[in-house]
Amino acid sequence: MRRKEKRMGVVFSILSWVLAISMVIALFRIGGATDDLTYDDVFRFADIHGVITDRTGQIIYNGQVSDFKAYGNTIGHGNLMHNTVLYRHAAKLVPGSVNSLTGYRTVEGEPRQMKTTLLSQEDQLHLISQFGDRKGCCFAYNYETGEIYTMITLPHYAPDYENAAFINRCVDSLYTPGSTMKLVATIVAADQKIKLKDLSYTCNGSFQLPDGSKINCPGSHGKLVFDEALGKSCNGFFAYLITQFDVEKAIETLEELGFEVNETEHEKNEMDGLTRPNSSTVFANTKRFDDVWALIGQGQSQVSPVSMAMIAGAVANGGKVARPYLVESVTNPNKNKVTYEAEGDAEKLLSSSTASTVKKNWYSGTREYDYTYYNLGLDETVTYAKTGTSEVGETAENSLLVGVIEEAKTAFYIIVEDSRGSGVSTFTIANELAKLVPRAK
Ligand SMILES: [Zn+2]
Repeated sequence: MRRKEKRMGVVFSILSWVLAISMVIALFRIGGATDDLTYDDVFRFADIHGVITDRTGQIIYNGQVSDFKAYGNTIGHGNLMHNTVLYRHAAKLVPGSVNSLTGYRTVEGEPRQMKTTLLSQEDQLHLISQFGDRKGCCFAYNYETGEIYTMITLPHYAPDYENAAFINRCVDSLYTPGSTMKLVATIVAADQKIKLKDLSYTCNGSFQLPDGSKINCPGSHGKLVFDEALGKSCNGFFAYLITQFDVEKAIETLEELGFEVNETEHEKNEMDGLTRPNSSTVFANTKRFDDVWALIGQGQSQVSPVSMAMIAGAVANGGKVARPYLVESVTNPNKNKVTYEAEGDAEKLLSSSTASTVKKNWYSGTREYDYTYYNLGLDETVTYAKTGTSEVGETAENSLLVGVIEEAKTAFYIIVEDSRGSGVSTFTIANELAKLVPRAK
């Protein structure tokens, strides 16, 4: 009898322990569920503890960004800008578990370290200085790995800065592409197996469309083959080419490239937690001015700088392109443990045969036929490039440049707003960018 009581006592004591341990585990589970926290909870916590570095390990955020001009609109500032690293990735900086019953709980003495893929502060500021007093942006990334090297935007945000902008033009804005769209039109043509190398056209300054309207060229380019027309950016040649497109097939290609065509809406694109609007255009009729003009890059075409860089990267990379990302890893220094690591992700934007055709045309369009771009100041380290100019209102125009720095596997898109008379050149910005982006080891 007494032995039985004793045994019951042991069983009871084991049960109590099981109960106690279960409660502790449950408490931790509740506490660990950071998904249930509000942004403010997480942010307040990350604000105190998180450290963010550039790609070399230099601290660029430690409670506040080191330099707002270089990183303000990319890393962010509290609740002010939502499409930023800090706002979208704050939860990753929370050290250990947060207990919802007992309040905040630091189980890590040292702050978590988030390593980004961004260039150093010095490099970012150097690029920004190339813009002079102009607005604009430059997005550049490695199309093989997805690492974003820079997404500078002007004007920037800084506390107490009277001209502060709360957006990052690289991810929040859309631009009329001007002739950078001719790269897209070339892809559409190659994708429908139009034999570009057999085409020839004589430009006398304008091309008359079947609806009676005219597509004008800045000058008379004379007799051209396709690659030359791409290099010299002949509107007439492209109008002649676009009128030969199969509309259905063209829409299919444009959609594969990420364009919303004829007001069909797609979901906003996500890029490592940051969202960006989709590029859009119209194309329903090869005989009408608006449609042809849009594929030449004016009128109703609007592009996302990120998307255009991805398209350029896909051309250089056999049609497949890495999805851009900013956050490389997050480390808990207390345990020397990596708590988050970027997963490389890729998508196929074009068929490999289309990519290879366009790559040849683009290479020859950039390099041959008077060497136009290089004579105008582009460095040869920029392997492929296409310029663009788009009119904004009556007097202003934006300068745009899409390109690839092949030895650094880098694709970029640069916009200088209201560039006329500023002395600021997209070529200079691209040249400086080419010096800064890392080469593969
Ligand atoms: Zn022309």
